Amino acid sequence: MSSELFFSTIGDLRARLDSRDLSAVELMGVMIARTKAVEPLVGAFNSFDERDALAQAAASDARRATGATPGALEGIPVGLKDVIAVNGQPLTASSKMLANFVSPYDATVTTRLKGAGAVLWGRLNCDEFAMGSSTENSAFHPTGNPWDVTRVPGGSSGGSSAALAAGEAIATLGSDTGGSIRQPAALCGVVGLKPTYGLVSRYGLIAYASSLDQIGPFTRTVEDAAIVLGVIAGHDELDSTSWKAAIPDYRAELQRKQGPWTLGIPKEYFAEGLDPEIGAAVAAAIAFYESQGCRIKEISLPHTQYCLDTYYIIATAEASSNLARYDGVRYGHRSQQAKDVVDLYFKSRAEGFGAEVKRRIILGTYVLSSGYYDAFYLRAQKVRTLIRQDFTNAFQEVDALITPTSPIPAFKMGAKSDPLAMYLCDIYTIGVNLAGLPAISVPCGFTRGNLPMGLQLIGPPLQEANLLAIAQAYERAYPWSQRHPLL
Ligand code: GLN
Repeated sequence: MSSELFFSTIGDLRARLDSRDLSAVELMGVMIARTKAVEPLVGAFNSFDERDALAQAAASDARRATGATPGALEGIPVGLKDVIAVNGQPLTASSKMLANFVSPYDATVTTRLKGAGAVLWGRLNCDEFAMGSSTENSAFHPTGNPWDVTRVPGGSSGGSSAALAAGEAIATLGSDTGGSIRQPAALCGVVGLKPTYGLVSRYGLIAYASSLDQIGPFTRTVEDAAIVLGVIAGHDELDSTSWKAAIPDYRAELQRKQGPWTLGIPKEYFAEGLDPEIGAAVAAAIAFYESQGCRIKEISLPHTQYCLDTYYIIATAEASSNLARYDGVRYGHRSQQAKDVVDLYFKSRAEGFGAEVKRRIILGTYVLSSGYYDAFYLRAQKVRTLIRQDFTNAFQEVDALITPTSPIPAFKMGAKSDPLAMYLCDIYTIGVNLAGLPAISVPCGFTRGNLPMGLQLIGPPLQEANLLAIAQAYERAYPWSQRHPLL
């Protein structure tokens, strides 16, 4: 068995599993051994349950043995961010508030992964309640970037990107409210896809900012992203924002969709603050597309400068409302020190939430309070419309936009103690969430210090098939994700 089995793609493993060259139990055994070997360095998992994973793998082998057509992920180990519910498994959001909470039901994405035969593997670390860009806000432990464990893996889905880059899973899911799939994918050298808002059900995802949250895959290749998206996308009556759109066969569409495309370069995304090595790598990717016959057009998204402010008003407002449910009464942490019921609310929340979560609840409560609502929240909603309009206008002229994913490569743990410095990590990713668009981060090279860099492609709503094809054209020429960290 190849020692590199844990770095394989879904496509390769499916072929080996289907030909019985490999069993799902053997594959899971390799993943468990790999995870145990590297976890002391990486710390991508909040928890994992070996026996449960091996039992799932055995059930997968039994299904294959019946001769039934295997599901799209039959026998493939898939890790889930610890904000996605799995029946009977811990669901902590990396918060003390939910440290002892066990989910009583499956998220819709979980049901779909199980239906496709996936072996669910572990609960992956993240920033507390998905608030952050480095996974350092986890109440439990930080996660190391597999390329340099003294650096962050990005966030908030840093456990999902690190586990994949370290060979501890074959694919993972994360959630993206302002960049939390794409930015950690860029920092760890893997592919990360944030689907159109409403394409993937949010039922069973711990809510952060409901008008922005979206679940999506981390994978080694664009084709693998197409496979996982095909499993998790689609209408769900349990999520009122779910699209009723027909879901194409994304993997088959990859063969069909051919360029050349017209690609837009938003000039506001190449401004001050962009690391020169990342700027050069993205410029090289643009030159590649041009060499393939694509038309490259400089365009403007004039309201980009307001994205960060708009996001941090809307996201915190929604978070303050969503997190009101953690009151120490129904579930989650309950203070043992409370004198009466009001004191119970105060103390349970004071003890259960970390500093960044409290900061956002306070900010969000403020912008929604009477007297400030019009000045902040209502105005932010109006600006959000303008930001969305910028993208709509751009897509009159181009098929997709190319930008850097993150302005900087993975930074040292502890290097960004100022919250504003951390918020700036999302400068190129949050506009996409405000506009509800699909976007993908694809590895686009390494810095001189051997840290991965990512390229972001942004498309019009529900154009994932096209976006994946554009991304794959680059990946075929530059398969950066075939490089793996030495751990
Ligand atoms: N870093 C951003 C934030 O802290 C985005 C997080 C996310 O996408 N979940 O809000």
